Amino acid sequence: MHSIFFESEDALKTWLTENGEKPFRASQILSWLSKPGVTSFDDMKNLPAGLKQKLSSAFTLRTAQVVQTSQSPWATKALLKLHDGETVECVMLTDDKGRHTVCLSTQVGCAMGCMFCATGQTKAESGKCFIRNLESEEIVEQVLIFQDLLHSQTTEPDSDRISNIVVMGMGEPGLNLDNLLTALDWLSNHLEIGARKITISTVGIISGIERLAHSGKQYHLAVSLHAPNDELRNRIVPTNVGIGIQNILRAADDFFDVTGRRITYEYVLLGGVNDSPQCAQELAQILHGRNALVNLIPYNEVEGLPFKRPYPDKIDAFVRTLESGGVQVQVRKEKGGRIDAACGQLRRKNI
Ligand code: SF4
Repeated sequence: MHSIFFESEDALKTWLTENGEKPFRASQILSWLSKPGVTSFDDMKNLPAGLKQKLSSAFTLRTAQVVQTSQSPWATKALLKLHDGETVECVMLTDDKGRHTVCLSTQVGCAMGCMFCATGQTKAESGKCFIRNLESEEIVEQVLIFQDLLHSQTTEPDSDRISNIVVMGMGEPGLNLDNLLTALDWLSNHLEIGARKITISTVGIISGIERLAHSGKQYHLAVSLHAPNDELRNRIVPTNVGIGIQNILRAADDFFDVTGRRITYEYVLLGGVNDSPQCAQELAQILHGRNALVNLIPYNEVEGLPFKRPYPDKIDAFVRTLESGGVQVQVRKEKGGRIDAACGQLRRKNI
């Protein structure tokens, strides 16, 4: 059986005809896929029972189950169990204007091994941190699950609408781009979440940045830098050893030249590791003259990992140094910390 999410209307018409059904049902079926609360073919109210039965035997619809949620006023986190028993996390953030952003995962686990990351440092039963890529439908479902949740909580029109996506959950998006871009196309077409509302984050996979630059879409690129020099970055982001900061900056510059979209550099501030005035000065130097925004993320501590959240005065000093170096900077607002929203923590506890 395969997923119905990516069937074309023509292919579905052919299947319907071959199975003794009317081809006009294809558009009815496809229009149900993005509707909130439609989790099985039985929920497609205007289809005859016999057709629902045939669809269930031929295609899958939703394959992920929510096994745990944690909620705060601004963030909801879900742990999903996939068809093979593996688990991934996704998060929905709600801003003070009521807009909803879903943070997606692209892989089960991650091979990048960032030293401070719950996902990168959690070994599954197999002893490995990376298990597999997510299928396109498993990426789409993460958004639909939150749309369902919102729909069940409100009757206000449009208040169940997801307006933005950030691809910053578990996994390295640049290593699962085929499935990710297929899923994002579907979400753009069916939920009207345009590329300009979608941010894709990478630890610095050059081929991925190049492909996104030439995708013809206006995705927003976020580069997870976390250190201003290779010596430090090699220690906390081990995959940097084969890449190097200068190559990443060059690829990001090319992305900006092609798309005209400002790059965000993510920088997780780790107390006593990369939060010194010298690090801030070096960061300001390497970004000087670039159209860039630095997003500082004070670390959410992870049980079992040795890294600490920086002191508030260190964060303030870091911001001031960047600003006086002419670099635009913002500090990520704290929304997820209390619900273990740092990537991979819920799954880590379950494993
Ligand atoms: S921070 Fe991102 S790239 Fe690094 S290990 Fe975690 S999930 Fe992977």
